[in-house]
Amino acid sequence: MTDDIRGWIFIAVFFLLPGLIGAWTAWSKGRNPFTWFLLNFVFPPTLMVTLFQKPLRPVSGHYRQCPKCKEFIKWRETVCKYCQTELV
Ligand SMILES: [Zn+2]
Repeated sequence: MTDDIRGWIFIAVFFLLPGLIGAWTAWSKGRNPFTWFLLNFVFPPTLMVTLFQKPLRPVSGHYRQCPKCKEFIKWRETVCKYCQTELV
């Protein structure tokens, strides 16, 4: 019984958690959260891909696109870190 619970905790920490973090991160980058949940859940190391990949499109409150160089920057940043363009 206790071993069962330990097993579930192990699954939750090493599979479910990366899955959920991956789903949230993917969603904040304009990607499909279900696809990335499955991918990160089945194979947790892919979480690194999810965390470091670029956003697909501007997402309100998370990422916006620089009008000059088209790179994605964080929503709260006021200066583009790639071309130093000031954003309003
Ligand atoms: Zn820029």
